[in-house]
Amino acid sequence: MAEFDQQTLVEMLGGTGSAPRAAVDAVQYHGLASLLNGTAQTLSGIAARSGLPLSDVEDGVRALVEVGRIDLNGDRVIGVGGLTLTSTVHSLSLPDAELHTWCALDAVGIPAALGLTATVQTRCPQCDGRITVDVDEGSATAAGSVTLFCPTAPCDNVRADFCSAANLFCSPTHVTRWRQDHPSALGEDLDLAAATRLGHAMWGHYQHGPSSTG
Ligand SMILES: [Zn+2]
Repeated sequence: MAEFDQQTLVEMLGGTGSAPRAAVDAVQYHGLASLLNGTAQTLSGIAARSGLPLSDVEDGVRALVEVGRIDLNGDRVIGVGGLTLTSTVHSLSLPDAELHTWCALDAVGIPAALGLTATVQTRCPQCDGRITVDVDEGSATAAGSVTLFCPTAPCDNVRADFCSAANLFCSPTHVTRWRQDHPSALGEDLDLAAATRLGHAMWGHYQHGPSSTG
C-alpha cells in the first residue's frame, strides 16, 4: 500500500487534466524556483523562461487551479508545488526566503529533496506543541520522534483533501490519540526518515528543471 500511495503523490505533481503536460510542468517548475528565491513569478515571465506561448501557460495555470495546486495574486504565482507566500501553520526559512508550505510534508520534503539548508517550524495538531525540523543540505533532523500523518484517502483537491491533514506530530503517541479523535482520517504514520524519502520522490526532479518525459 505504501508504494502505491507514494506513486499517487508523485503523480500529483505531474500532468493534470487536459492541459499540456509541458505547460503544467513549466508553471510548477518556474513558479517553485522563483518562490525558493522569495519572489512570485508572473505568467508572462514563465512564458519567457519556458519558451511556451502565454496561452499555453494560462491553460496550465487553469488546470492547476481546478485541482487546488496553485495560488495566484493577479498574474503572479504566489503558491505552487507546496510552497506559498501566504501564511500557514508550517513555516520554511531558507537562506534567501521566508516561506510557508501547504502541509508538513511539503515543509520537510522540499528542502530535503533539493538538498537545501532550512529550518521548518510547525505545530503538533494534538497538543499544539511547537515542532522544529532542521534541514542541513537536505538532511533532516528533529528533537524527539516526530511523526508525519500522511493521508491516503482519495484526493480531488490537493490542499483541501491532502494538505489539511498532512501534519507533523511531536510523537507517535500523539498521532495515535489524534486518530482516535478523527476515525474517518485514513493515512499512514511516517517517521522523519520516511517522510524525507517521500519528499525526494516527489520533488527531487526539480533539481534538474522541468521534466521532459511523461
Ligand atoms: Zn503533540
